[in-house]
Amino acid sequence: MRERPGRLVLIGHPVLHSLSPAFQNAALQRAGIPLVYEAMDIAPDELGSAVDRLRAARAAGNVTVPYKQAFAERCDRLTPMATRVGAVNTFWVEQGALVGDNTDVDGFSAALQRAFGAGAEWPRVTLVGAGGAAAAVAAAAERWPGTRVTVWARTSARAARLAARFAGVRLAASLDEALEETSLVVNATPSGLRDDDALPVDIGLLPAHASVYDLVYRRDETPWVRAARAAGHPAADGLTMLLEQGALAFERWLGVPPDREAMWSAMRG
Ligand code: NAP
Repeated sequence: MRERPGRLVLIGHPVLHSLSPAFQNAALQRAGIPLVYEAMDIAPDELGSAVDRLRAARAAGNVTVPYKQAFAERCDRLTPMATRVGAVNTFWVEQGALVGDNTDVDGFSAALQRAFGAGAEWPRVTLVGAGGAAAAVAAAAERWPGTRVTVWARTSARAARLAARFAGVRLAASLDEALEETSLVVNATPSGLRDDDALPVDIGLLPAHASVYDLVYRRDETPWVRAARAAGHPAADGLTMLLEQGALAFERWLGVPPDREAMWSAMRG
């Protein structure tokens, strides 16, 4: 059994808006574990010293924007999943070594099941955006038998780099081409965080039966999810993925599964 962490933290910049402390602390309380999960805002020039302090304190926790890649480079060891994605969102210390993992990948697959049902299949996936979160989606989809992913991003060189890393991912020449015969459209851009953002994909461009998954989340639903639902598309926002990646992280740190319903209530606030 892994040694209990000295502390539990979320590091990022900024982090104060994060919902993670609310739902992780609800699960810790429900499990009777006397730890408090804290958000730590780390300035970019302090990342190195912060990582050294976390290792010395036997801390465990999560990493968020903008440090998922930079943190991976500072770990003593990466799990195969963190290596595949090239990013860390979950860490702990094992016999003095800082271990980096990635639960966004399995969190995304679990979120789709939670949102659309366990039997749903996705033969064609359209991935909009080509950053770290898109890599987690690509890593998840490469494990689904028969799924083909088409990526489109505003910086096509970045989309081409993503396609080169994942055999099942093809670069689309245009958004229209990326959407052809798609069964699931995933927004992996930050569009939708603010009310005045453009929708990541116009609803009129979606094939009639396509489902929509927005990695962006807010306490209320995102504008894209609201618009997709209104047009009859099954749609879900990133709260389900936030929950699932966090629940998987909790299990890695503490060796027991959290009460997901306690997490969900705390998240919906
Ligand atoms: P990232 O590495 O910065 O990549 C963002 C991607 O979106 C890039 O392709 C970027 O293109 C593109 N982009 C940025 N702003 C855009 C805009 N206004 N319009 C169109 N494209 C835009 O970010 P990330 O880490 O992948 O995260 C992406 C989103 O996923 C964030 O909102 C994050 O909060 C969310 N996320 C959610 C969860 C969850 O649990 N629900 C987990 C992980 C991430 P350029 O290269 O041209 O800038």
